[in-house]
Amino acid sequence: MFEPEMKVAVEAVRKASALCQHVRATLVTDETITKQDRSPVTIADLAAQAVMSQILLEAFPDDPLVAEEDTALLQQEKHGDNRQRVFEQVRRILPGLDDAAILAAIDRGNHPGGASGRFWTMDPIDGTKGYIRGDQYAVALALIEDGEVVLGVMGCPHLPQGTMNNTTARGVIMAACRGGGAVSMPLEGETATPLRVANATRGDESVLCESVEAAHTAHGRSAQIAARLGVHLDPVRIDSQCKYAIVARGEATTYLRLPRAGSTYEEKIWDHAAGVIVVTEAGGSVSDTRGAPLDFSLGRTLRNNTGVTATNGALHAMVVDALAATQP
Ligand code: AMP
Ligand code: MG
Repeated sequence: MFEPEMKVAVEAVRKASALCQHVRATLVTDETITKQDRSPVTIADLAAQAVMSQILLEAFPDDPLVAEEDTALLQQEKHGDNRQRVFEQVRRILPGLDDAAILAAIDRGNHPGGASGRFWTMDPIDGTKGYIRGDQYAVALALIEDGEVVLGVMGCPHLPQGTMNNTTARGVIMAACRGGGAVSMPLEGETATPLRVANATRGDESVLCESVEAAHTAHGRSAQIAARLGVHLDPVRIDSQCKYAIVARGEATTYLRLPRAGSTYEEKIWDHAAGVIVVTEAGGSVSDTRGAPLDFSLGRTLRNNTGVTATNGALHAMVVDALAATQP
């Protein structure tokens, strides 16, 4: 099922991942990092969105797109240089695409989403802070049909291919479709290995993972949960949907994304759709912090959900109980 969609989605994610790597290698200098200049991110984000959007448009012209970025900033007079750089980066991959078509490809990502029909959702660079730091980030693309995620592909250009500690070879792509299982491939290569979550069944066998950014998750509450479960190890902190990736391959058992006290933040569908199907098809479970399924049918955000937890499945009920026993 979804064979043509999978082929196109993998191609789109591979090309966008290559673009992100190229921009990072050529435009992010020590100087831009220390000055906190976000322009390399802006360029890579927008160019990667244009590339994936255009590839999808040509293959599936009737499918709408829910994507993170738009061209509002880029169209400003003062961003003329960045605009040219975006065009240049896109045309390295899609030669001949003119300026207007590139801007249109980016802006067609403004679809509202919703409960009926099918649409794609993408985050061209998930974990921009990790991207700037030279840490983890993900290029995420998913297909949603009648409110359900049916296909997801995640490019993780900086993720070690084996485990986080073995950094000899980096660059992974993970892909899953409903009922078809999940696989991992080298970012440059075709060999697909089935993904399987960890076998852990006891709380003290848990390996937790969470955001690097304290603004995105309550680190204090996850420490309380770790104590309740009897976890020995410190949580693995990495940016982006790479957290779903390490749960899917069994390196971590549990991803915790815990809203901070008083937070009114609504999780965005493109930050979760691809990761969720990769984990569930690898045998894991995903819910919000109250144990409710993530509801992708409500538009661009998961507005009825509170935080997220993804586990190997066997530990899910135990984690949701621990969540119920701790306060935001
Ligand atoms: P992570 O790398 O897991 O920390 O997540 C990065 C994503 O967090 C970004 O793509 C943002 O969409 C999202 N984000 C931004 N602000 C918040 C917030 N206050 N709480 C949770 N997630 C956020
Ligand atoms: Mg994101």
